[in-house]
Amino acid sequence: MNPRSPIALHDVLGQSIAVGTLRRAMETGRLHHAILFDGPSGVGKNLTAEAVAQCVLCEKPSGGVACGQCAACIKVLRRDAIGRSVHPDFATVAKAMYDPAVIGRKTQETQDISADQVRTVVLARMSLGAVFGRGRLFLIRDADELSVSAANALLKTLEEPPPRTYFILTSTRGGELLPTIRSRVQRIRFGPLPEDALCTILVREGHDPKVAEGVARDAQGSLTIAREKLGNGAKDGLEPWISSIEMALEDKTFAGALKAAEGSKGARDTVGAGLEAFAAHLVDTARKAASESSPKALRAADGYVRVQRALRQLDGNASPQLVTEALLADLRGMP
Ligand SMILES: [Zn+2]
Repeated sequence: MNPRSPIALHDVLGQSIAVGTLRRAMETGRLHHAILFDGPSGVGKNLTAEAVAQCVLCEKPSGGVACGQCAACIKVLRRDAIGRSVHPDFATVAKAMYDPAVIGRKTQETQDISADQVRTVVLARMSLGAVFGRGRLFLIRDADELSVSAANALLKTLEEPPPRTYFILTSTRGGELLPTIRSRVQRIRFGPLPEDALCTILVREGHDPKVAEGVARDAQGSLTIAREKLGNGAKDGLEPWISSIEMALEDKTFAGALKAAEGSKGARDTVGAGLEAFAAHLVDTARKAASESSPKALRAADGYVRVQRALRQLDGNASPQLVTEALLADLRGMP
């Protein structure tokens, strides 16, 4: 079951300019085939992309805008274990999103979104029609991470996609997109969320209105920051949790792993914050090891990618405990 309520474009909060632009485009049937959502993290870019996907794929849109209720609209929001929509005509491209074998690689993507991923996930589908025939949409998350060869592989399709094929690229630093990509997309700017919108979202997520108000005031318009702050309320559990993960990795028995998994029964926010902290720790380790030309660098970088994948699973509403267990098994299985 998908715990999220069916969202349509009019339910996106706090981005009235971006939503207004998209809505007018949809109502007049002039949605640009390649759009860049440019703005800070945690302000609703992915959510809006999902809402646009609903509009493209909806079974009974009204005036170009999705109903938010039909099977297609609901499927757009339903995610698999690692946070991808299960709707076959709504595909996600993001760094390290796919197992290497799936996209024809020997190793995981660590630096960028590879041309292999673009070829397998996007280009290979171009000669095929949409599965449900209504249209299809590709979401390219953090498009500034496209490698040069991936961007080059994408150019022709981005410029002239088949009918009813759309691309939404997201970025927190649109200025760093390759010029060849930038010149082919319509840029829509996403600003920080207004406090009242942020507060409404937090209350909808079940937080106390007074607490939500305080956090919203101090979150720089970012839901990500707001959630981090709320997660920090349970910070007591965090440090031991991270060290138990580290111990579990060193430990050749399963005792440490079990303890870490046990400790991750807690709130999603706490585990998310723990994983973020662990990822940051791995980046530090990788940097330090690299400066000493130590082989540990690769291992830490590889671990980082795996933690990022676990974070996506958590985003996709997988159980915090299961995500931790899977991550531990994954990290322990590393060469
Ligand atoms: Zn619908």
